[in-house]
Amino acid sequence: MKRLLILDLDETLIHSTYIDLKLNQTPHKYKLFYIYQRPFLEEFLESVSLHFDLAIWSASKADYVKQIIKNTALSNFKFQFVFTRAKCKRIYSKVGSIRYLKKLELSPDFDSYHKIIFLDDYPEMVDPVENCILVKEFRGSESDDELLKLTHLLLNNY
Ligand SMILES: [Mg+2]
Repeated sequence: MKRLLILDLDETLIHSTYIDLKLNQTPHKYKLFYIYQRPFLEEFLESVSLHFDLAIWSASKADYVKQIIKNTALSNFKFQFVFTRAKCKRIYSKVGSIRYLKKLELSPDFDSYHKIIFLDDYPEMVDPVENCILVKEFRGSESDDELLKLTHLLLNNY
């Protein structure tokens, strides 16, 4: 049974901030951002990649996403696709702000999957939301173990 796991980046697998958080981890620098990798990212990807096909879908721009993948543990793994903001549906609010919806348009590419799961800290921006597992947002905490918990959840329940 083939299963696809679609991963969000910001606050799910990494945290990027203008502030140097002065952690043990040396952040990757991209433009004005300090990029912090979530604890256990490599272990998480190693475990889930044995059971799921992996993909990335970020509402951020392509160049940023490319840099994140290149400079974190993500660079060691294979992804079925990497979708960025260009693949999101724009939602305009009355006050003119824009939000980016990750709307899965089912296509023959997905027909072979028995199950498709999103991991995201912002399920409201995922459609269908029933396919999303809510991830506690990562803001740089060094004692964060959410990816270990998610590994157990995914391997035991899906
Ligand atoms: Mg996010």
